[in-house]
Amino acid sequence: MRHGSIPGARGRVRPLTLLGDAALREQCREVTEFGAELADLVEDLFATMYAAQGVGLAANQVGVPLRVFVYDCPDDDDVRHLGHIVNPRLVETDGVVIRGPEGCLSLPGLEAGTQRYDHAVVEGVTATGEPVTVHGTGFFARCLQHECDHLEGRVYADQVTGWRKRRLLRQISRASWSGQA
Ligand SMILES: [Zn+2]
Repeated sequence: MRHGSIPGARGRVRPLTLLGDAALREQCREVTEFGAELADLVEDLFATMYAAQGVGLAANQVGVPLRVFVYDCPDDDDVRHLGHIVNPRLVETDGVVIRGPEGCLSLPGLEAGTQRYDHAVVEGVTATGEPVTVHGTGFFARCLQHECDHLEGRVYADQVTGWRKRRLLRQISRASWSGQA
């Protein structure tokens, strides 16, 4: 692979925002400028996601309230999906709702069964403004729904219900990174 073509290779790892940080509750803004700053943000998101061994990362998870996320995520058939999307819109969700384990780099070390649709379609543009449509099934559909939620100021913990929710809230309150402890 050509040097420089690996996503994140020239990016810098930025500090992650953790649950409790106001940035995670922000409704992110549409991107209107498709210049070098946006390209750098995408690179930094990849570098930060890989450093934290994540499969997806939204811009407000590094404190930037813009509608951008990156992903490098397998689906249930072990097909790898790699890319970024600017101004994403979740245009379709269907199929069965599946509860599966879900975690988040902003709630490190935790995981909870979370309900998501098995199929999701996201439309948006690339960092250079080219239209893009991303289809996801299984775990990748889960990832797309999770990242779109981030841009609306939501985290997966909001989606968890019942005893799973109570257990997760307890774990959050005990977590070393939690401001609520
Ligand atoms: Zn997340």
